[in-house]
Amino acid sequence: MSLVPEQACQGRDLKKSHTLPTLPHTKLCGGDTYTITKISIECEPVPSMAAKVFGAFIVCLIALVVGKDIGPIKEMRTSLTSEVQLGIDLGTTLSVAAVCVQGNVSVIPVEGYSLTPSVVWFDNETDAHEVGAAAVLKRGTHADSVVYASKRLIGLTKADIDKASESLPFVLNTSNGILIELHSGKKQVSPEEVGSLVLQKLKAAAEQSEVLDWFRRSMGFKFHSLTVSVPVTFTDDQRDATMRAGRLAGFDQVRLIDEPVAAALAYGLGRTKEAKEVLVFDLGGGTLDIALMYFSKDAETFFVDATGGEPLLGGEDFDVIVADLLLKDVNDESVSTAFRSCPIMWQKLLVSAEKVKKELSLTDSVEVCLPNINVQDSPCSHSSTVTRNQFEAKSRSKLELAEKAVLDVLEEANVDKLSPLDVVLVGGSSRIPAIRSAIRSILPNARLHYEDVDPDQAVAIGAARSWGCNV
Ligand code: ADP
Ligand code: MG
Repeated sequence: MSLVPEQACQGRDLKKSHTLPTLPHTKLCGGDTYTITKISIECEPVPSMAAKVFGAFIVCLIALVVGKDIGPIKEMRTSLTSEVQLGIDLGTTLSVAAVCVQGNVSVIPVEGYSLTPSVVWFDNETDAHEVGAAAVLKRGTHADSVVYASKRLIGLTKADIDKASESLPFVLNTSNGILIELHSGKKQVSPEEVGSLVLQKLKAAAEQSEVLDWFRRSMGFKFHSLTVSVPVTFTDDQRDATMRAGRLAGFDQVRLIDEPVAAALAYGLGRTKEAKEVLVFDLGGGTLDIALMYFSKDAETFFVDATGGEPLLGGEDFDVIVADLLLKDVNDESVSTAFRSCPIMWQKLLVSAEKVKKELSLTDSVEVCLPNINVQDSPCSHSSTVTRNQFEAKSRSKLELAEKAVLDVLEEANVDKLSPLDVVLVGGSSRIPAIRSAIRSILPNARLHYEDVDPDQAVAIGAARSWGCNV
């Protein structure tokens, strides 16, 4: 990607050089090199923020008197836009938005939460839809009108779909592109549309957010550009489809950043003055993505030495393990059978299991009341206790898969597992203590990074930091 000076200058206020990452848009293979280009741009000096706010206040007053959106207000909007960057981690399970305002990065709450489920419910008759927690609630009752994990489908070709169809939880129409069938085929949506609705939700929350100062909010601030993260293994088609989702969501300019690069940037590892070998281990809801990168000494170049992971290993597998453990205490065979045979009951059990799993990251033992089978709000008829030891014992094969994936990546890059690597643990499932211990035991000399940045938010923070946000 190259910027001509006029484009780069547009939206920059101060007379200074910017070191900007050129973000890879092509499929990554072990050994590929990407250059972080230094672009020196001479821009006209502009007034300080205080002067701008005061100036704009006067302009607003005049506009109020004159009664229309006069030219200087438009200019002010443009100049304020330039100091704010939006980064979105469009996750398979959960999405996160972060904003960099004049060098400070903040995660944007959406309806009070930093994590928004990447789930969309579509109405059968109209264009009505719900995104996030409201759509998740509909999964229990309107399973055939709710789309989740659409990132697994974005940009896939018909041939990819044919190969993976057994592991995809959707009915698909592949006659003209890839469409997800809803309401028993009465409605069809593309994965890009689903992604764009999630992006729109986060965009709207960011535009209303307290993080933007009063002045921006009251000017009806709109984001026009977005940096969105994609898995390092995404193909050109998947990257193009993600860009389309961004444009559908109303962004004029969409930049992509690879998730592990964003995670490393969130920890400031890509911008140090010493050369670094960084392994990013991202265990999310449905996938494990690993990338080994080398950031050169001048902090201008990084190499992707190797990538790997497990496309079908993530938090959902651990939910199933806990759900099975929850049923172990139920003596009544008919109750366990009811949970296992009724999709809605199984779904409810998985929701409880996920909560128990998260608790087990903090405590040794959790007791819960199982969702009631027959009567809503009746007293607890079946309770169950799961311990961390039981969970870890049942998770052993999954942990071994994760360990093997890390060792394979190191082997591919010819890097010794005893070397002093920087290892960044991200993704919500990296909070599982057994995962952290497993990585520590196979990489005894590594420096593990997981405490300073919230593992759910690291990719979004890195995306917001990646472009012109000098923190
Ligand atoms: P994705 O990138 O796939 O959208 P995330 O990185 O946001 O996913 O991770 C979501 C997964 O992390 C979910 O399966 C969730 O249950 C799991 N998770 C979140 N917090 C914890 C925790 N404290 N302990 C264990 N798993 C967790
Ligand atoms: Mg993720």
